[in-house]
Amino acid sequence: MTGDPGGDGVPVAGATGGGVVPVTGERAGRGPVTEDTVRRWHAELAWLPAGGVRPGVLIEAAGGRFVSVRPDVRAADVPAGTVRLAGFTLPGLANAHSHAFHRALRGAVQAGQGTFWTWRERMYQVASRLEPDSYLALARAVYAEMALAGITCVGEFHYLHHGAGGVRYADENQMGRALIEAAAQAGVRITLIDTCYLSGGLGNDGSPEPLAGPQLRFGDGDGDRWAQRVYGLGADQHGMLAAHARLGVAIHSVRAVPPGQMHPVIACSHAYGAPLHAHLSEQMAENQACLAAHGVTPTGLLDRVGALGPRTTAVHATHLTGGDIELLGGSRTVVCMCPTTEADLADGVGPARAVVSAGSPMSLGSDSHAVIDLLEEARRVELGERLVTGQRGNFGAAALARAASVAGHACLGWPEAGEIAPGALADLVTVALDTPRLAGLSEATALESVIFAGTAADVRDVVIGGRDVVRDGQHLLVGDVPAALGAAIPPLLAP
Ligand SMILES: [Zn+2]
Repeated sequence: MTGDPGGDGVPVAGATGGGVVPVTGERAGRGPVTEDTVRRWHAELAWLPAGGVRPGVLIEAAGGRFVSVRPDVRAADVPAGTVRLAGFTLPGLANAHSHAFHRALRGAVQAGQGTFWTWRERMYQVASRLEPDSYLALARAVYAEMALAGITCVGEFHYLHHGAGGVRYADENQMGRALIEAAAQAGVRITLIDTCYLSGGLGNDGSPEPLAGPQLRFGDGDGDRWAQRVYGLGADQHGMLAAHARLGVAIHSVRAVPPGQMHPVIACSHAYGAPLHAHLSEQMAENQACLAAHGVTPTGLLDRVGALGPRTTAVHATHLTGGDIELLGGSRTVVCMCPTTEADLADGVGPARAVVSAGSPMSLGSDSHAVIDLLEEARRVELGERLVTGQRGNFGAAALARAASVAGHACLGWPEAGEIAPGALADLVTVALDTPRLAGLSEATALESVIFAGTAADVRDVVIGGRDVVRDGQHLLVGDVPAALGAAIPPLLAP
């Protein structure tokens, strides 16, 4: 029993009254990209996943997708009306793991000492204050910050479903719809990873502990009722919620979902072909509790219920055994590393090289948004490996760039994005090379310079689906992004 109202595994869009949030490009005063909208850019330097770094790349798009990509074109030879992209152009970056509301904690949680678990208490305080309107305002600002950092698609791991005490909103998906609308207003794509979160942890005897306090807002009661609510989002048979939004699903963690309740989540993933994500082994305490309760590691438990595979993403994967690495790699389960958060929360350094060598694709996420900078996430994977192994060059710049772009999009259900290639969604991120961090780089190692020394602050222009979203460092839809963050966050932290 999956709670699937259609009964055949493929829910009908809107069958349970769920609406689809409109894309707001027109509302923001900018025309939609139609089939006949043709745009051209001439990139001074561009990273083409298939061909490396090339100069003078003439890129043409129609209807929001690339139709031709030609390197080595002289400026004198480009057609009239072509936009010049000065600097280094990458494909769109995908932030594969986000909790938008954690952005409110930035800095505020850096004073004093503590652990993941004391940080979590502060995070719950913010969670307890959010309502649909304030969530929309915060997420809109956070996603705009992401766009300024070159992020064209976000995977929002969403579990703040209900009102205080777990009371349902009139539309029980109102919080999720606020996130979809926030992404539209910020001009980015979103995979709304609707997360099943049923228990507060594993007790000493292995039994699930009931949700309490702010956690009551996360819970749907059981897996079938979680699924019933998710089918009410009204995704179409391909999992699309709007032109810019698709559905993903998640098992929050083995702490929060008992194994007997995981099947409705897996079934929902199958029904829509939707990505399935899960936090995995972020903390040793989770491994110990899982071993005590179930006699297997968290990875072993997900394998036992059939949750691993190429459509699944294991987020963190920090504390793995050799057997876990074989299970993840052998099943081609994606791992999403979030190294700034993992360092910030004193989680540890995950075995990225070993699990990728075993067969897992790797994506990247800014997770708690201690910072929002995928270039930093990318280099930190390699720098963490160096600190642990004493070896340099475990991941080259191209492998790290692929994790931030094409692999991230694929694990969010957008395999048609993240590459500058004909047929791909027309997303471009241009990094300025005349900044103090990147000036003087050599063309031969430009990608290495950008990945290992560039920052979000160097991102100058962002195109998403053929439409300008950031131009010369300014967000064209939200306008003053710092003001939007400055208005949304203080009320959530006030004593
Ligand atoms: Zn997370």
